[in-house]
Amino acid sequence: MRETRQHREEQHSYPIRLSEQQWRAKLTPAEYAVLREAGTEPAFTGEYWDSHTQGVYSCRACGSELFRSDEKFDSHCGWPSFFAPLAADRVEYIEDSSLGMRRVEVRCAACGSHLGHVFEGEGYDTPTDQRYCINSISVRLEAR
Ligand SMILES: [Zn+2]
Repeated sequence: MRETRQHREEQHSYPIRLSEQQWRAKLTPAEYAVLREAGTEPAFTGEYWDSHTQGVYSCRACGSELFRSDEKFDSHCGWPSFFAPLAADRVEYIEDSSLGMRRVEVRCAACGSHLGHVFEGEGYDTPTDQRYCINSISVRLEAR
């Protein structure tokens, strides 16, 4: 009984669902490692950490629009940082206690792919005092 319920929770009804095999076919190995295995790209190596191009960042796995350059700020942490998502329902939050720290994982609400983590109370001079620390490789920027 319990197993059935857990199974159902794992099957969380993302609008976009592909098998692991389909994700592997769709994504490059590096994209797969971050998006589907919750990896982290090395700091200061991604395409967008220092980008000031105006536009919209979409999920690289499914294309859902997630963040805008309007909410991007220079955190100097080595990853693209946003103080808010494009809309609250575009992302979901999962408690992550891997690496012995309590962190909040940010996933794409449309397909469940891993994007990064959100931190708050760090003192950045932004409207929310939150930092959505997002892997460049999880998103794709479409310039305006
Ligand atoms: Zn997605």
